[in-house]
Amino acid sequence: QAKHAGRNKVFYYEKAMDADFLQKMSIEQDLHRAIEWNELKLVFQPQFHLHTGEMTGMEALLRWHHPKFGIVPPLQFIKTAEENGLIVPIGEWVVEEVCRIIQRWEAANMPIYPVSINVSTRQLQNDFVSFLERMLSKYDIPSSMINIELTESFLADSTAFAVLNQFQDLCVDIAIDDFGTGFSSLSYLERFPVQFIKIDQSFIQRMLDSKKQTDIVHSIIVMAHALEAKTIAEGVETSEQAALLKQLGCDWAQGYHFSQPVNEEELRSLLKR
Ligand code: C2E
Ligand code: MG
Ligand code: MG
Ligand code: MG
Repeated sequence: QAKHAGRNKVFYYEKAMDADFLQKMSIEQDLHRAIEWNELKLVFQPQFHLHTGEMTGMEALLRWHHPKFGIVPPLQFIKTAEENGLIVPIGEWVVEEVCRIIQRWEAANMPIYPVSINVSTRQLQNDFVSFLERMLSKYDIPSSMINIELTESFLADSTAFAVLNQFQDLCVDIAIDDFGTGFSSLSYLERFPVQFIKIDQSFIQRMLDSKKQTDIVHSIIVMAHALEAKTIAEGVETSEQAALLKQLGCDWAQGYHFSQPVNEEELRSLLKR
């Protein structure tokens, strides 16, 4: 009996591995035609001012509508796209799509909020800023409508200084994403003009567990303010977390407690309210 069950387990395990492997293989291949076939879409997660409750902006998040696998979240393909270089055309699609959408919102007389775009190091090394500049002028969008989210690790890249200066010349604000999870160095943060620090959601999730966890979040907020950056809490899921963040002096927040990421239509009706 036991031997039989054991064999079955092995059988199912291998089958699951196979399915995973095949899916990974075809994700790699299918990604090549994802843009061409219009399979990429953006969703938007609103951000709110913790003290006034007002909406302040939104983050654009990529979704891949795969004909066979359904909606594939970015964590399942961004890394592959970074490895094979497809992140560059995909990232350019994201920028242009954000510009097209802002243009539609303007044409429809909707209230306009700044949109934050996630950008990985590989994209930034590929003359990303020039592309962004061209799109802003093509769609006639003020640079204050775009914020760029990059990760701590980029600050250590040899191109960081030049790239961040280009953003500054263009008046595009920078947010450090997932702050606290990567390679942080106060000297980098001090040297570079950074307007926002996004506290990683892992800190927000543990924040109510102990005084130590609360103090860690508090010290990130104090440090960010010392660097003259605003703080954005990511992944806020409960009213308790929102209340504590407000008390700790955090500026903005986003997360399921406020709103899930929504598509363009849903955002329209959300903005009308
Ligand atoms: P991120 O920039 O840190 O984005 C936050 C992630 O947390 C998003 O996952 C969002 O859907 C999720 N989230 C929002 N609120 C909550 C919450 O209350 N609880 C929890 N548990 N999660 C929440 P998503 O959309 O799957 O994106 C994952 C990551 O993929 C992003 O992390 C970002 O690093 C990357 N990414 C997304 N879009 C793009 C893109 O256009 N370009 C690039 N290069 N990377 C992207
Ligand atoms: Mg982000
Ligand atoms: Mg991130
Ligand atoms: Mg993050």
